[in-house]
Amino acid sequence: MSGTYTHKFDTAAYKGEATINTGLFIGGKWVDPIEGGSIEVVNPATGKVVTSVAAGTKADVDLAVEAAEKAYKTVWGLHYPGAGRGKLLNKLADLIEKNIDEFAALEALDVGKIFAKAKAIDIGGAVTCLRYYAGWADKVQGKTIETTENKLAYTRHEPYGVVGQIVPWNFPMGMVSWKIGPALATGNTVVLKPSEMTPLTALKLADLINEAGFPPGVVNIVNGYGHTVGQAISEHPRIHKVAFTGSTLTGRKILKASAETNLKVVTLELGGKSPLVVFDDADIDQAVKWASHGIFFNMGQACTAGSRIFLQEGIYGAFLEKFTAIAQDLAAKTGDPFTPGTQHGPQVSQIQFDRIMGYIDSGKSDGATLHVGGERHGSEGFFVKPTIFTDCHPDMKITKEEIFGPVAAVIKFKTEEEAIDLANNTEYGLACHVFSQNVNRAIRVAHALEAGSAWVNCAQFTEISVPFGGYKQSGIGRELGEYALDTYTQVKAVHINIGTNL
Ligand code: NAD
Repeated sequence: MSGTYTHKFDTAAYKGEATINTGLFIGGKWVDPIEGGSIEVVNPATGKVVTSVAAGTKADVDLAVEAAEKAYKTVWGLHYPGAGRGKLLNKLADLIEKNIDEFAALEALDVGKIFAKAKAIDIGGAVTCLRYYAGWADKVQGKTIETTENKLAYTRHEPYGVVGQIVPWNFPMGMVSWKIGPALATGNTVVLKPSEMTPLTALKLADLINEAGFPPGVVNIVNGYGHTVGQAISEHPRIHKVAFTGSTLTGRKILKASAETNLKVVTLELGGKSPLVVFDDADIDQAVKWASHGIFFNMGQACTAGSRIFLQEGIYGAFLEKFTAIAQDLAAKTGDPFTPGTQHGPQVSQIQFDRIMGYIDSGKSDGATLHVGGERHGSEGFFVKPTIFTDCHPDMKITKEEIFGPVAAVIKFKTEEEAIDLANNTEYGLACHVFSQNVNRAIRVAHALEAGSAWVNCAQFTEISVPFGGYKQSGIGRELGEYALDTYTQVKAVHINIGTNL
């Protein structure tokens, strides 16, 4: 299975080639999966198979952990100075930037992202993230703690050793950079599993990890299915921490695997059903612009999507009219991700397409009004038109469950108190959005909503330096910013007796 695949892009947005190795990347080398499995890569814009890549199993994870452990104990971890780790992360960021078109083209091919957006947001964002954590690599420090004259006490922020990282398909390179950036900056070694649906950019990255000069075994990439490779990482006795981004259902399985094996530390970035609350005193044009970005960005395949839109009755009609116009404009600009001018692409897979259409059917049968969209675009690929439901109620499936598609559920409210109650009526707590020009109200509501990120007069506006994570069933722990460093280090307290008394 290990070998290379070259894709020739002859599109309006990008002409060129991208070559990936299709094997497993273990100990700095490309190897075949021990049991010889493979997975097809499908282009969501056409539904056609692009190529096949290796699928690992537990035996491959064992080898990857061995390689990662050896690297940690001999060359990486605290053997490698922080400044040196930072230099390698910067080098990796430079190499990705040098190949940014190739990465963006692979991401567009594999996920169906609009090429220009993949370049600016996904790959550009990954470069920024790696540079940000490169800067932290020599600034991970403990404290000296005053106790008595007879004692010196200090803390060390030590890496865990081998960490497992499991990422989803909606932002493949983005999520890889959020994971490996802080893990490597703090001196851990990594066994990473891309989503089996979108492995191409992670495989491309592997060659650059070697080119940047990371010692073999510091980063290992084992593509494969969740129930095999993912499960093996979650259960592995010599992996001491797992960082996961994906669905709440899978997050539960990973916590359970940890509980039943070695109690490894688990951080989880899970699903959401984020509220977006627009008050009568909002700047309507701004609110509509951000709300559209909030739900339709990445074809709705974003964990922080503002999928429940609460509109105060005074602006309901005006907002809906403008919001509808944007949905229709996006529908008119739906198409091939490599065609300049395309603003809306396909969903990632047939499974996701079917899932979303199932939710649209349930919205209709539960009595919500299908205001716009609700149907497939074109005859091939997995395109769903931007969709808005009105007359939604809190107990409908489309209002309660994460759809992970371009489907907004709109609900009218009267008072601030009612909006807060409705918005907090969810098991999730990843993000929330508030639109109001009354600064007191905006801040008051942002504080009252139960979510790890509160965006005021904007939506889905993530910053690498600002922590990100969920309340309630949207996750455990924080990624990004300085906060992420804490989740990749364990604190050792060192007590030194410098006196003679017991
Ligand atoms: P998923 O949970 O199905 O898969 C995520 C990853 O977990 C994949 O790599 C998959 O192979 C792996 N996996 C599946 N079963 C596993 C198991 N038993 N053990 C270990 N690993 C397993 O999610 P998805 O469909 O790829 O992604 C969509 C979900 O991710 C959505 O619910 C979305 O909200 C969430 N998400 C969250 C964030 C966040 O930061 N909170 C970001 C992006 C996506």
